[in-house]
This record gives sequence, C-alpha cells and structure tokens, in this order.
Amino acid sequence: MTRFLKFFRKEKAAMNHIILPGATIGILGSGQLGRMLALAARRMGYRVHTLSIDTDSPTGQIADREIVAPYDDLDAVRDFVRDVSVVTFEFENISAAAAAVAAAYVPVHPSAEVLHITQNRLREKIFLANAGFPVAPFQPVKSLSDLQTALHKIGFPAVLKTASFGYDGKGQSKINSMEDASEAFDFLEEEEGVLEAFADFSKEVSVVAARGLDGTFVHYGVMENSHRHHILDITLAPGRVSPKVAKDAVEIAHGILEKLKVVGVLCVEFFVTKDDKLLVNELAPRPHNSGHLTIEACVTSQFEQQLRAVCGLPLGSTQQLRPAAMANLLGELWENGEPNWPAVAAFPEVKLHLYGKLGARIGRKMGHLTALADSVEAAHARVVAAREALIK
Ligand code: AMP
Repeated sequence: MTRFLKFFRKEKAAMNHIILPGATIGILGSGQLGRMLALAARRMGYRVHTLSIDTDSPTGQIADREIVAPYDDLDAVRDFVRDVSVVTFEFENISAAAAAVAAAYVPVHPSAEVLHITQNRLREKIFLANAGFPVAPFQPVKSLSDLQTALHKIGFPAVLKTASFGYDGKGQSKINSMEDASEAFDFLEEEEGVLEAFADFSKEVSVVAARGLDGTFVHYGVMENSHRHHILDITLAPGRVSPKVAKDAVEIAHGILEKLKVVGVLCVEFFVTKDDKLLVNELAPRPHNSGHLTIEACVTSQFEQQLRAVCGLPLGSTQQLRPAAMANLLGELWENGEPNWPAVAAFPEVKLHLYGKLGARIGRKMGHLTALADSVEAAHARVVAAREALIK
C-alpha cells in the first residue's frame, strides 16, 4: 500500500469517529446525569434516545425517545443501538453483556473494560493499587473468617463495603472492634465485600476530568466536597487545598484516565489525609455530582465535555469563570410539602436545577442549587442560605 493510501485510510477512519450535530446520542440509564447530558446535547443540535426501566424519567423527559426495558433485555438493547450513532452511560451498573451488544454496532464510551473495572470496588481497588495509585489498605472479604483475618491485618477503625452496586455509602459499615465484625458481615448480605482502613481525612475532594478520542486530557481542578449520611451535600470550587495537593490530585487523575484509556468524563474521588497526602476513594466513569457546578461556573460544562468526547469532537475549555458552590436538594426537603421555590428565585446568583423526579423520598437526589460569588466562601454561604430559604 502506498504511503498516501495508508494516510488516507487513517484519516478516513479518524473522521468516521466524529459524530456531528444532528446525529443521535444513545444514553443507557435515565437519571439526572442523563438529563443534564441530554440538555447539553439538544442545545448542540443532537438528538437523544434513552433506555432504562423507568418511564417519564429525568432523561426521558428531555430525550427524543424513551425506551423502557431492562438492561439485560439484549434484544431491546440491540433495537436501541440500531437507531443511535454512539452509546454512553449515565449509570455504571450496566451488564457487560449489554455493553458488548451495543459495541457490536456503534462506538461505546466508556468502554466495556472501563465499566467492568469501575462497577466493582474490589476490581477498582486492585486496578488502582497495581497501577501504583495511592489507596487506603484493603482486603477482599467473602466470609466472616476472611473478615476477621482482614481486620487483624488492617486494624481499627475499618470500613466494610459491598464490592458491587454500592454508591452513596449504601452497603457500608464502620467497624470499631472485633465484636462489630459479625453484624457488619451480616449487613453485606452474603455479597462479596472489601474491607478498607478508615481514612482519618481532613477533607474529601474530587477531580472531574475528561479524555478525548485523540487522548487530549482536560480537568476542572480540585473540587472540595462535604457529605451528609455518606451522600454528597456541598461542593465548592476551586477546592481549598495546598498547591501540592492540587497538583498531585490532577496528576493522579491524569494517570488514571490515561491508564484506563477513558474516552469521556471520569471523576476521581479522594481523601486528603491530615498529613496532606491523597488517597483515591472511588472512580466514577461519567459526569459526577461534584461537577454539576461546571454548568454555570465554567466555559464548558462536564456534560458538554462528555458529549464532545464521545462524539470525537475537540474538548472545550474548562476555565472557571467565577467561584462556585453547589448544594444538593434531597427528598427530605419535601417532607412538609413543596419547597418554597420563589424564595430561592429571590437569590439572583443562585441557579435552581430540578430533575423532574416523580416521588420525593428521603436521600433521593431531586435537584441541586449552584451559587456563584466573588469567593468560594461567599458562594458557600449563599448556596446554604438559598437552600435554607426553601424550607422557610
Ligand atoms: P463511597 O460510597 O465509598 O464513596 O463512600 C461514601 C462516603 O463514606 C465517603 O465519601 C466518605 O465520606 C465515607 N467513607 C467511605 N470510605 C471511607 C474510608 N475508608 N474512610 C473514611 N470514610 C470513608
């Protein structure tokens, strides 16, 4: 083959990966992350199809088509992917079989391999540790005697987590002494578990980053997160950490995206220890709750970035225009009836996001607020005041 022909074929293959406005994006999953991705996609002239088990879902309300089927209905997944140009996930607990069916027809980002690693805490920790990224000491647990042996190695306090399908602290228990072991093991409900050393952290932070089809890496810097009952409560950006922690966190995130060859957005959650060291807690191979404030605060939101990456477009600027704070709105805000929306609208630099979920339940993420201000501290105070005004 001539050099010219080789070059031409390569160019054509690269061009084939570019999915242009007017094409249809397939989203597996239909929650708020898919909704905000769909909003970004529709703004840029794409069509959106979503498949999940729910009807009138947060994503379905924005999508052109909402297909209702279980993720393991491979015929439904096949029909779904036939009508789209690319498939992405808004939720990582999709079976490898469904990802493989989709990949037979269209590009799938993140890849089945990235999903496989990140949908199981144990596989994720082994991947991170083997690749030399810092994680808290951990041990696999399949039986009570495994747990007792692991506790001898790791010490107290420790945290036992289910290996799969765990998020927002679900399926987790803190173990303070050997006497707690059997109750914590029962809580696992016979699933495989991971025992981790309890990280005595000073802060929790995250780095939301993206990698393009051509390997370009961008990031939104360090976000500072606080949790309530294991669920993200408030995010501040830029996060208040030392320059060294900020630099190291971005370097680790870059290393992880590169090692996984991710195409799309991936969030790395970290603990910052009291001696200013970083430990990776978790990976989320998709836009993340701590990145929601990028919608108002940055030139390119994490959702547009995800769209650009999976469509093979150049990535957008992540420059942050104003300090920002995000506060989640959980179902408990509805306990005494509909929150006071006009009160939040009275804050001119606060933006309301509601996900269109039909039932408010305790702990359910119903929406969020983003406040912009001249400093992170002022944005924080503003978002908290706005959220409090909702229940007055
Ligand atoms: P996860 O579901 O693993 O993200 O955990 C949810 C939250 O539980 C984290 O954001 C922490 O606040 C807390 N947590 C989880 N693992 C640990 C740990 N090993 N040490 C201390 N706190 C933890």
